[in-house]
Amino acid sequence: MDLVRLTGSAYQLHGGSNAGLIVQDGRAILVDTGLDKDTAKKILRIVESLRVRLAAVVITHAHADHFGGAATVRARTGVPVYAPALEAAIVANPILEPLYLFSGASPAAEWRHKFTLADACPVDGLLEAGDVTLGGVPFTVIAAPGHAPNQMMIAGGGVCFVADACFAPEILRKHGIPFYVDVEQTTETLNKLSTLDGKYSFFVPGHGEAVREIGPWAEENAARLAEIRQAVAASLAEADDLGGILQRAAARLGLQIPNPVVYTLTQTTILACLSALQKAGSASVRVVDNRLCWTPA
Ligand SMILES: [Zn+2]
Repeated sequence: MDLVRLTGSAYQLHGGSNAGLIVQDGRAILVDTGLDKDTAKKILRIVESLRVRLAAVVITHAHADHFGGAATVRARTGVPVYAPALEAAIVANPILEPLYLFSGASPAAEWRHKFTLADACPVDGLLEAGDVTLGGVPFTVIAAPGHAPNQMMIAGGGVCFVADACFAPEILRKHGIPFYVDVEQTTETLNKLSTLDGKYSFFVPGHGEAVREIGPWAEENAARLAEIRQAVAASLAEADDLGGILQRAAARLGLQIPNPVVYTLTQTTILACLSALQKAGSASVRVVDNRLCWTPA
């Protein structure tokens, strides 16, 4: 994990999943904690080297790669951990993440890896959108649902930590079909991001390098989301089950799904598209010959 000083009072902790620090008067808020215990230890060493005292940990959303280190940070420092409602339930009960990916059944071994099953961390308080001060450090919490049900972005020290509200272009290309739970909320969040340029000196995504302007990324993310939704709509030409629709949508987008976990992540995004298409009156669902089939409405 590399320390990148972005402004006089905000740092990016650049790793596989980024974390961040907002500092005021020798006290710091840690934004996300990386994937696991080892990352947490690296973060704590960086905090020590900066000679600041950790005042609180804030979690943007309950995906294991963003909060997996929280339990270690809290156990070693005793600092309180804050998370948005609903996300907090998963931080405290991380089995919920592989459980929802596995349709609510006890998850098979592939879903019990640290990338989808984090260490449990008690949550000391809930984060709500608005201006917040914790331990004397002021920051702003900005609602950013869509990639996770109640994801929040954290802004302070001239930097906005956007979590997975927006992916860097290279990450977008790598994922092909990124993880979304709600298509309309994602669109609204991306629109909101486009209005933030000029308000902050830097934007730090959940993965990749910080940027000075988020608008162009938000546009690229929105265009990709529209493409995915269109590929799902086009794959609905005849009644088919989720597996068939996913297969055809992935083929249209030129994707090969590499493993079972990515398959279920992709499945959630396809379902989010089907849900949005149904709401728009262009898809319906029924059981045909014991298959759950989606058809054009
Ligand atoms: Zn995420």
